[in-house]
This record gives sequence, structure tokens and C-alpha cells, in this order.
Amino acid sequence: MRQNMLAVTAATLFLTACNATPGGDSNAMSTALFPTTSQQSGKPKNIIMIVSDGMGPAYTTAYRNFRDDPATPQVDPVIFDRIFVGNASTYPAKESGFVTDSAASATALASGVKSYNGAIGVDVNKQPVESVLQRAKALGMKTGIAVTSQIVHATPASYMAHNESRKNYNEIADSFYDDKINGQFTANVMLGGGTQYFERKERDVTAQFIDAGYAYVDTYNKLATLPAGENVLGLFAPVGLPWVLDDKRKNRLAYLTEHAIKHLENDNGFFLLVEASQVDWAGHANDIAAAMAEMHDLNLTLEYLYQYVQKHPDTLVVLTADHSTGGLTVGARGEYAWAPEWLKKLSASPAVIASELPQADDPVAFASQQLGFELNDEEAQQVASLARLKSTRAIESGIKSILDIRSNTGWTTGGHTGVDVEVFAFGKGHNAFYGQYDNTDIAKKIFALLPDSVKQVETESEPTGESVPTDTCDFEKDWRCQ
Ligand SMILES: [Zn+2]
Repeated sequence: MRQNMLAVTAATLFLTACNATPGGDSNAMSTALFPTTSQQSGKPKNIIMIVSDGMGPAYTTAYRNFRDDPATPQVDPVIFDRIFVGNASTYPAKESGFVTDSAASATALASGVKSYNGAIGVDVNKQPVESVLQRAKALGMKTGIAVTSQIVHATPASYMAHNESRKNYNEIADSFYDDKINGQFTANVMLGGGTQYFERKERDVTAQFIDAGYAYVDTYNKLATLPAGENVLGLFAPVGLPWVLDDKRKNRLAYLTEHAIKHLENDNGFFLLVEASQVDWAGHANDIAAAMAEMHDLNLTLEYLYQYVQKHPDTLVVLTADHSTGGLTVGARGEYAWAPEWLKKLSASPAVIASELPQADDPVAFASQQLGFELNDEEAQQVASLARLKSTRAIESGIKSILDIRSNTGWTTGGHTGVDVEVFAFGKGHNAFYGQYDNTDIAKKIFALLPDSVKQVETESEPTGESVPTDTCDFEKDWRCQ
């Protein structure tokens, strides 16, 4: 697979190098191969792709209402309204029907190729397809990922690796280290969760990255201590990060994004994938409070990036979703109403409230304090009986149903739905994203906006990987293989 991948990359470089030198003049050639500024080509220097997993159109509508100031006569616009540009279909390859999973859609968004549900960077024949992140790396840009799931989860994995199944988390973690592009690791910066896939009994991929010169951090605070321009592996949880409602940092995605950029900025530009991974998880859980909190985390990220692009107008930011999750409806049960004010004062996620409820001395007072509103008689009775249940899951469902009834939120499924998703873009080159198209077109547009030719690669600070023989790892002698 890797050989095929390298062949694809080599062919691409050959073609792009040829295209860049129509005159055949050697001076023109060196200028075209090593352009000094992206302004000349009309293309962005830096590209930041954001995937908000599961964020169908109902989520952005709900979030606008959630943020609305009831004292003003109109519903106030939010940043999503300012940056909306288009709409994309999400269906996977024919054999998987009309409803995609995150792997097939991420492969479409990353590579421009429709594939089957479960596919990580491979086509329907399980052959690797090059992603925009991999192409950016091959062109001499720095690359990174900043996500709130484990970094080997379907969306980041489809930009970084090639695997026939999204479930092969350990293999995908290995690929992050083993796959090389022009002798370099696929990403300079990797931030998110997933220690359990990297520090394993039989192989410690984290240690391998450390030996290859990567800075490794496992807390948000340590991330802030690193000097700019480092290659960084930052894993902040065993699997995914906590819900933002339960996290110490209420702006965790904006924080990870800001720090990723700090390490990626360089003369040749960068490609960064950001994922608001847990909008989808809130949709699967039918948890409207967690969904709005994850949307707010994304909103803070967009506000940070909007400011960043004012200062760095040669940067493009594109945001879309891979599909919608949960069949969220703004209003339900035949009632023309939606009341987000009940979702604004939670002290913890419904999952955490549910896990702590049975131990509370006064479950009703505890639930009321955690949810941030006085329970009515019916709700108080419901909470009292929930506290006697053994199953945390059942307690959590009960807590969520109180929030659904209060806010009049509806859900039609615990899975995904096949609706189109919105596309948002700002910064240099954002005009390319206006209109209605397919999710594969997003990758095609980004490929077209990447540089035409290879840029000078800074080799001195880049590990080649050669000092750590991965393919020849001796299981008898090398502790990293154990
Ligand atoms: Zn999902």
C-alpha cells in the first residue's frame, strides 16, 4: 500500500513540476519550483480545513438560537452566518447506500474519492488514495491535525493514513509513524486524544516519536510551554478528550488549534486539519446540552481563526460537516417551540451527572444544582426514581429526556442521517467554495488551491526517521517493539 502511495506522490510531483515550467527556461524553473510568496500564484499560503463531525444544518440553527439574546427583537447572527458559502451532498460509494459514516465521508473530503463506509483513505478496491494533507506534505508544507477525538479516529485517520477499516486503531497509529512522505513523517503536529493506541504493550509509538525528535506532551498546560516551530505529539486522554462540559478547558479546540498553528507557521505554508469531533458523539448520544457545548467550542475556534485570518490574509479556512447525526430537530412532538435557555447552565455533562446521581445525598437537589434550574414536581419525581436505577446509561437517558422535554428538542435516530451539509469558508481562495456540490468536490477544490510545485523543504529540523529502524524492529532486543 505504501509503495502505491509513494508512486502516486511521485507522479503528482513530476506532473506539477512539469506544469510549472512551460517555458523550459531554467530561471523560470527555479522561481516556479521555489516561489517566494504565495501572493504571486493567487493561492493561499496556509490552509486550515475544519470538519465538524455530525454537524447537520439543524445544529447550526440550534446553535444560533442557543446563543440568541432574548432581550433583542431579532435572532442574532453567529459566526456561522457570516462565513456560510455553500452546501454539499454526503452520500458514500453506491455499495454503502445513501447514508455515510465518518470514514467514507472523511475519505471523500480528504481525497476527493467516494468509498465504502469504514474506509480510511482507500477507495472501493481498498487501494490507497492520496489526501490533501499528504499532498501538502509532499509539496514541502508543514502539516498538522488538532482534534477532540483520539487522533486515530476516522476523520483525522483519513487525512493521515490508509487502512481498510476505521476500527484498526493500532494499525492506524503505527501508520502515523511508519508512513513517510519524502522521508518525513506525515504530520509535524498531532494534537488530540489516544494514548492507549500509541503506548501499547507490544509497541510504544509515542517513544518512537520522542526518539525521532518530536516533543511529547500529555497535558494542555505543557503544550503551552513548548517553543514555537516544534514537531509535536500531544495526547491528552486515553481515547477521546472529555466532553467540553466536563473538560477543564472550556475552549479546548480553539486552544489546540492556536497551538498547532504556532508550531506549523513557516515560510512554505501549512495545512492543518481541525476536527470538532464530538458534535457527532453528542448526536449519537441524543444529548442536546453536550451538542450545544461542543458547538460553542467550535464557535470559539472559528472566532479565533477569523481574527487570525485578519492578521494573515494569505490563509484559507474551510469548514464543513461529514454528515448529520441523531436526526436532531429544533422543535418536536407537534409543538411549535424550542427553548434553549435550559441548556445554558449545566455544570457537567448529563453522562457525568448520571454517574454521580446515585451517590448524592439528595438526588433531586444535586440534579437541580448540576442542571442549573429548579426541577418541577414531575421532574423531581423522575430524578428520585432515576437515582434508584442500577444502569448509569438508563439514568443518563432520563436526565437527557428532562432536557429534551424542557427545550422541546427532537431526535430521530442514534445514528447518522443522509442530509446535505453546509460549507463555510473565509480567507484567501474562499470564493472557490460557493454553491452546491458534492463532498468529494471539497477535496478537489483544496487540491487545486495547493501550490503548483514543490517548495524547498527544511531538512535540517526534520527527522528522516532513518535513525529509528521501524521495519527492522528486533522484537527480542528493542524495548520499543515489546
Ligand atoms: Zn458518527
